[in-house]
Amino acid sequence: MARKVLVFAEVRENELRNVSFEALAAAKDIAAGGEVIGVVAGESVSGLAETLFHYGADRVITVENEKLKAYTNDGYSQAYLQVIDSVQPDAILMGHTAQGKDISPKLASKLSSGLISDATGIEIDGEDVIFTRPIYSGKAFEKKKVKEGLIFATIRPNNISVLEKDESRSGEVVNEDVEIKDLRTIVKEVVRKSTSGVDLSEAKVIVAGGRGVKSSEGFEPLNELAEVLGAAVGASRGACDADYCDYSLQIGQTGKVVTPDLYIACGISGAIQHLAGMSNSKVIVAINKDPEANIFNVADYGIVGDLFEVVPMLTEEFKKV
Ligand code: FAD
Repeated sequence: MARKVLVFAEVRENELRNVSFEALAAAKDIAAGGEVIGVVAGESVSGLAETLFHYGADRVITVENEKLKAYTNDGYSQAYLQVIDSVQPDAILMGHTAQGKDISPKLASKLSSGLISDATGIEIDGEDVIFTRPIYSGKAFEKKKVKEGLIFATIRPNNISVLEKDESRSGEVVNEDVEIKDLRTIVKEVVRKSTSGVDLSEAKVIVAGGRGVKSSEGFEPLNELAEVLGAAVGASRGACDADYCDYSLQIGQTGKVVTPDLYIACGISGAIQHLAGMSNSKVIVAINKDPEANIFNVADYGIVGDLFEVVPMLTEEFKKV
């Protein structure tokens, strides 16, 4: 069954986030020969439309409005609902990011639809679209399908392969004029934490430190390894609670959920709440001086040793590659 699939792309610092391309790839499967429509909203975003074609959109809708300069649930939900009303899609996808998590329940409730949140995989079985999503903090996975009505899902970053970029693809770009009533929330200033340039939730490689790093200076060897690998730096709550690093780095049940290709855990014991945020990483390397540490139960490769010796050795070796 050919479907019309709407993908709400996400922009950060004037660039499209990678999860938007992952959602386009998923949309292509769901569309089953129908139409994939990319939507990009902001104050001035028309320059980003072409990239959505390169990653699979058949048509692009831009929504430009000064009230969309910064993300607000209020402004973006008004804009998105008007686009949904004019397109009348069969399916809607967006990233399971902070924005996606914030806005998708509101849209679903306004549309009186269900919502499959945090999808990590999509299969097509005849007419059915079957989503895989984690439950019980990632300890199990369930499969869900929408039996009737709108298919609406958020896609967890780093789980669905992006289509190969095709710069020859192009198409129609339509600017949708939306009316946005006075916003109840005004963003006055966005203050960025000066952490590494790589976004933790979309990083392909993460070097994470735990209480074993012993101090904020103890993160330095991890920062150096991350720099060489082009990785993001993360942390356990133990390290955050001890004030070795900022809480924005926390990975786990009450922190960020990550699924990088490579997760290097340094001086992290592997408490269940930490595993909830990283155990679905594709390859896990654990460095811990305690051979009994629980982290080794989920690790693909374990190094029993002092992280202050092992991490600099890894950095030197990776520099040679
Ligand atoms: P520890 O458990 O103290 O482990 C430190 C490890 O470092 C040890 O295994 C030790 O052998 C090793 N080590 C020490 N020195 C070295 C060295 N020189 N070289 C190599 N290894 C060394 N935790 C999270 O991480 N994320 C969460 O989101 C989270 N949410 C929580 C929510 C709730 C409701 C609760 C109750 C707890 C939560 N926690 C969370 C806390 C969690 O239970 C653990 O306390 C925490 O993960 C421990 O952090 P850690 O592994 O860094 O520290």
